[in-house]
Amino acid sequence: MTQEVLLLPGDGIGPEVTAQAARVLDWMIDNAGVDLHLSEALVGGAAIEATGEPLPEGTLEAARQADAILLGAVGGPQWDALPMAQRPEKGLLGLRSELDLFANLRPAILYPELAEASSLKAEVVSGLDILIVRELTGGIYFGQPRGIEERDGVRTGFNTYVYSEPEIERVGRVAFETAMKRGKTLCSVDKANVLEVTVLWREVMNRLSAEYPEVELTHMYVDNAAMQLVRNPKQFDVMVTGNMFGDILSDCAAMLTGSIGMLPSASLDVNGKGMYEPVHGSAPDIAGQDKANPLATLLSVAMMLRHSLGLTAPADRLERAVQSVLADGHRTGDIATAGESVLGTQAMGDAVIAALAAQ
Ligand code: NAD
Repeated sequence: MTQEVLLLPGDGIGPEVTAQAARVLDWMIDNAGVDLHLSEALVGGAAIEATGEPLPEGTLEAARQADAILLGAVGGPQWDALPMAQRPEKGLLGLRSELDLFANLRPAILYPELAEASSLKAEVVSGLDILIVRELTGGIYFGQPRGIEERDGVRTGFNTYVYSEPEIERVGRVAFETAMKRGKTLCSVDKANVLEVTVLWREVMNRLSAEYPEVELTHMYVDNAAMQLVRNPKQFDVMVTGNMFGDILSDCAAMLTGSIGMLPSASLDVNGKGMYEPVHGSAPDIAGQDKANPLATLLSVAMMLRHSLGLTAPADRLERAVQSVLADGHRTGDIATAGESVLGTQAMGDAVIAALAAQ
């Protein structure tokens, strides 16, 4: 049966990188027997300009109907003065919460050819391949009560770090299932020596581990995990953690690779339906200049094919194509070193399609 993919190009470089994703998917439909139908809708600043809202009802409905969603990026300086509730970013947050996309998957892969881009020594990071599973819709970012109030004449700010057992269990299952498809080791990150909510987190992970006897589960306190990520990141395969710890650790892991234009992500619901997006933003400084690296978006397409559409072989083929363009020395400006010739967004798309066809 034909599966439906919704493209949400968004703002800035979003439309440029999403256009390359559409070209690659069209190529797969025409040449690799992939049965997909693509459609497009507005989100973020582009939607504000057209409809006055960052997440129009029509876009939300199309997202609900789709089997998978690919988003470019949202935001830009022209909308920075708007009140928080009307800003482009609300479109993204609205999609995540309306679709209950509770599991955020952030791979950090460093292709050996790009090891020099990292701020760490090449031997520490070359060949790095880790995946952080972050809980995205709960924890301290959403817990109630929250606020700033006067207590005994003193202004006091407070938030609530809360997770129910089912919330922990569902993200835990995503992490164990993901570990099963990779190296079968899972590190759960918590602060169980201080925070009761993470004592429960650790208990639930231990209970789930009985259902996945092939996966080796370890636990690590978040402060140690931060240290280990920069000391010896290659010790990790899959990591799972709550919303706030995951926010911080996934950015740290991402920066180990030194290249924001290379990092894909996925946000999944309980049925494996998901929204896929590059980690980077709308890059207004290079928008409209054919300079953006489309590889983070194309690697997001590969994740989409694998995790939501059940198309493992095309996903592998696309990842191999990206690897081969890098091995052949093709570089956009963000990953080029001095003296290397630089491709534009469109030409990098051409190179990936040529590498797909050559397999
Ligand atoms: P950014 O990721 O857009 O850009 C940071 C730097 O990285 C810039 O110098 C940019 O040119 C470069 N860069 C980013 N993606 C690149 C690519 N694919 N190829 C080459 N270079 C790339 O972050 P920012 O500047 O902090 O934010 C710009 C706008 O994007 C803001 O409005 C912000 O709110 C928004 N934003 C959106 C998302 C999202 O849609 N998921 C995420 C982060 C930021």
